[in-house]
Amino acid sequence: IPIWYCKKCGAPNLPKPGRYYRPWRDPPPFNKCSKCGNGEFSGETRILDTWMDSGISPLYNARYGVNQRFYKKTYPATIRPQGKDIVRTWLHYTLLRCTQLTGRSPFDHVWIMGMGMDEKGERMSKSRGNVVDPKPVFEKYGADAFRLWAALEVNLGSDFRYAEARVAGARNTLTKLWNLARFISSFPQARTTKLRPADKWILSELSELVRKSLNGYREFNFFVPATELRDFLWGNFASHYLEMAKTRAYGEGISKADQRAAWSTLHTCLRTMLLLLAPIAPHVSDILWRSLYGKKSVHAENFPKAQWGRRYVHYTKPLTEFNSGVWKAKKEKGLSLSSPIESQIPSGLELFASDLRAMHRIPS
Ligand SMILES: [Zn+2]
Repeated sequence: IPIWYCKKCGAPNLPKPGRYYRPWRDPPPFNKCSKCGNGEFSGETRILDTWMDSGISPLYNARYGVNQRFYKKTYPATIRPQGKDIVRTWLHYTLLRCTQLTGRSPFDHVWIMGMGMDEKGERMSKSRGNVVDPKPVFEKYGADAFRLWAALEVNLGSDFRYAEARVAGARNTLTKLWNLARFISSFPQARTTKLRPADKWILSELSELVRKSLNGYREFNFFVPATELRDFLWGNFASHYLEMAKTRAYGEGISKADQRAAWSTLHTCLRTMLLLLAPIAPHVSDILWRSLYGKKSVHAENFPKAQWGRRYVHYTKPLTEFNSGVWKAKKEKGLSLSSPIESQIPSGLELFASDLRAMHRIPS
């Protein structure tokens, strides 16, 4: 702490700001006590916690005292992301010093994340040699896969274990999205007012997805939209709806109106998924968006609204259970998924009968 105390009157004497001072070993950069004029001093020997200095980082970033215009634009910030291990130190001293100097809190929100552990759950540290360098991982799987993995791994604030296989899993989800987008892009972006029950069902689930994802984003909890999106993409959307709507989309023995309803619903689902995924996988969502839906970036768009009603959500369980039951029966009989099979459409699912018969090749 840069203070020299007068040996006669005890007054603390401070040097000019700017240099690094070591009062415990160096002579003072002045000759006389500012209070009594005495010339003998004893240097301060105590030091501050290093976080006391780190606490001014928001001011440094905002060029406080250097560029007033820049400072006014950038201070205070919206959010401070940081690890949970430095709440008592960095967060505390930052709030203390910045508020004392400027009279304002340096940020509105604090986003506190858990610690990255190695595969065995041990804390990563340089001395143990178990730190994972992220750069080769980006190069192998892509930055978006790494970001999606980080969002998928744990709920806000929990510690997480790094395992390469799980980054590969996130990459598979992005590859799945890519392949779905390629498939859907082979159909025109039609408008329709005549949705079929299967379309209304997936749009009800899409509304649920939007509602839950936006709740997660509102709390900066990226785990929520990431997991909800992944589950929707692989589950209700790809495994169930897409298979139900495929025959209609291809238009085999189907009315034009029913075909257009499938096209419209497929594109609505894809558009909405891209908008919801954009903050987490910014590159993949943007390139798909620009090649399908807009000249401008997906990042210039607003979040979607949960605008399709949720009336059909209660069909999700019986529908997915029926489909799984048929798949299981085909597997047990050694049939391929595209083979015909005799089966009864449950009475609660009569609404979806034509799509289900086409999907499973159940003769009527
Ligand atoms: Zn003095």
